[in-house]
Amino acid sequence: MPNYNAHRTFNYAVFIAITVLLYILSGSTLSAINLKHFLALGAGYYIGTDFITPDLDIKSKVIKRWGMLKVIWLPYMWLFKHGQSSHNIVYGGVVRILYIGIIVLGVYYLIFRSLPPDTIISSVYIIIFLIGIIIANALHVVLDTLF
Ligand SMILES: [Zn+2]
Repeated sequence: MPNYNAHRTFNYAVFIAITVLLYILSGSTLSAINLKHFLALGAGYYIGTDFITPDLDIKSKVIKRWGMLKVIWLPYMWLFKHGQSSHNIVYGGVVRILYIGIIVLGVYYLIFRSLPPDTIISSVYIIIFLIGIIIANALHVVLDTLF
């Protein structure tokens, strides 16, 4: 199985290649709105490549990158055996987002004594950000399958 840095190199190479391709296909005319969407996607993709990856199901380099916060992922590691459902290309990333989402909402609730308004959760940027994580996670699984 490719290691952490091999996954990062692969993911960023694919991202750059697709970005350049889309830029050329769009006739080099990206508007400001597209740029915001692109940044949201890029941020999600970065998080999905460097922090929220399928390899959170094993003591891996990505776990270490969480530093003190790695305790968050211990129950996840116990729940999901390495290389199985966590590495499912369809719902692996969705399950991880739900997992971290519940923790983030829990912390938000403890601080503000209420949940964030729907307008924040259903914001188009949050959705694009989450799609970025899912795409990055899917590419991780693709590379694992190839090697
Ligand atoms: Zn993997």
